[in-house]
Amino acid sequence: MPSVLLQPSLVLNSAFLPVSIVRAFEALCLVVTEKADLLEGDEAELIRSQFLSFPLPRVVRLLNFSGMPTNPSWSRLKVIYRDDQTCAWCGVRRKIDDLDCDHIIPRSRWHACPAPLRKKYEAPSGKLQNVHAPWNSWENTVASCRPCNAKKGNRYHWELGLKLLWDPYEPEYVPSMIVSFDRARKLGWLDYLLNPKGRPIFPSAVKIIALPPISRAAQQS
Ligand SMILES: [Zn+2]
Repeated sequence: MPSVLLQPSLVLNSAFLPVSIVRAFEALCLVVTEKADLLEGDEAELIRSQFLSFPLPRVVRLLNFSGMPTNPSWSRLKVIYRDDQTCAWCGVRRKIDDLDCDHIIPRSRWHACPAPLRKKYEAPSGKLQNVHAPWNSWENTVASCRPCNAKKGNRYHWELGLKLLWDPYEPEYVPSMIVSFDRARKLGWLDYLLNPKGRPIFPSAVKIIALPPISRAAQQS
């Protein structure tokens, strides 16, 4: 396969919300089979077959899917995304690299924790459980800045008088792909990932990171 067909294409649902990033080849298949519209294509990279010629797809829109992907399996990074990169103890928003995934009931004390106290932080019955690491549940984890995480250590938060700013929950979906602002701009995706105020479109399965200062300022306005 020519390498140009391995380049990324942004996929939107029928409501113009970002749902995935696929290879240009897959995006082209969606367009050719009339499952998607071509919204943005690179005319400088024409893809030709015997009968057809298409610009390299950069952005396509699914015609028959209006939902968002569901991906409820737990991961540290998804917890940070779920909490919008905000520390659940002090409320400060930070870069992904400056955040940890904090266990409310510390791992080392999970089994010693009295069952009635622990119950609130366990995955509800009927939900996906990690039997080997039950402390890795959506309910027992929050994004935490490094200073708060260090301060808490392996203590219960009530021992320190700390309060959660929100109750952690299992999200319906969280962004599962990330793209930097620079890369999104080069690929012509900015109009589909940011609103006119420069804020990330919501909801979106594709998270845009490393926004330049001007976009951050616009986000706060
Ligand atoms: Zn904090």
